[in-house]
Amino acid sequence: MSSSSSSTNGQRFKYTTTTSNNEMAVLENIYKRIIGQHHDKVMIKDTGTSHGRGLFTKVSVAAGSTIITEQPFVSHPSFDQASTNSVCSHCLTNLPTPITNATTTGNNKHQHVHCPNCRQNYCSVNCKNTAETQYHLACCTSIDTVRKYCQAEKRRFPLLAAKIVARILLGYHFNKTMEHWENLQVLSFAKKDPPMEWKDDYLAFQRAMLTKESNKKKFNYEWFVRVMQILYINTVGIQVGATTPTAATPDSGIGLYYLASFINHSCEPNCFLAFPNDHTLNLVALKPLKQGDELTISYGDPNKDYVERQSHLFDNYGFSCQCPKCLLDLPSKRPKKPLAADK
Ligand SMILES: [Zn+2]
Ligand SMILES: [Zn+2]
Ligand SMILES: [Zn+2]
Repeated sequence: MSSSSSSTNGQRFKYTTTTSNNEMAVLENIYKRIIGQHHDKVMIKDTGTSHGRGLFTKVSVAAGSTIITEQPFVSHPSFDQASTNSVCSHCLTNLPTPITNATTTGNNKHQHVHCPNCRQNYCSVNCKNTAETQYHLACCTSIDTVRKYCQAEKRRFPLLAAKIVARILLGYHFNKTMEHWENLQVLSFAKKDPPMEWKDDYLAFQRAMLTKESNKKKFNYEWFVRVMQILYINTVGIQVGATTPTAATPDSGIGLYYLASFINHSCEPNCFLAFPNDHTLNLVALKPLKQGDELTISYGDPNKDYVERQSHLFDNYGFSCQCPKCLLDLPSKRPKKPLAADK
């Protein structure tokens, strides 16, 4: 997410007025790649406020319609889901239980497929193949060590970092490009001093994922810290089956989405994220939008009171919200009125 007074753009591309024309052109090219098929629907641009960059609609949109859909760069099932094998380890769609299978004999469309080496379950051959070519071939057996560490320590981001390394390595192996590496560097990151536990996280990650000396140099602790800072503010909770903003389905997992990372926060958002079937993110309009409007979502529960909203945003994303609702709710500005009148 890029709504943060205390976060800035990637280290290599400082998005400031002093950015050179050449750097701007490189940056624009990366944005173009990230926007991809949605170039006629949305654009990334400076908000002209302390929010930095944001995502804007290029078309008018009816309330309830999906503006864009996006596949994650990386996603991972929650530990609960992963340990019970109840979701596809790639797309996080719910897998039918064996009992469901038994009652639908004759309809074997949803037979699980699994990796013969690590027994990861997939909903389809397609998911298995996609997982393999995107990251799985580079982390099939090694990622299990990271998973065990993460599960024991209740840490989730090192797992995403492991998949990120695997995607970068396979992207280079198959396509001879470092596109993912470049894309990552334009995302906002938390300007947060690395907490002590990131050192342990890195050691666990390094031991499992980086056996080659050259990779240890490339993906060093400094690299890991930047990735963690990116994940810290851009990771999205995925609730498969949630099609309304308040749907209280359990977390299916987490994911990092390039384009959605540019959507700023508001406590009065005009959009929300839905995941109707799997980890495919749908950005859905909550109200009618006109061409040029900035698209916003709420990073937390917008119905919580001012203090709860602010502390959630500060603790999790490192900024204090100054959206119209917060300015109105600001305790010092709020006219004294009986509690019952408060929502
Ligand atoms: Zn799947
Ligand atoms: Zn495997
Ligand atoms: Zn706010």
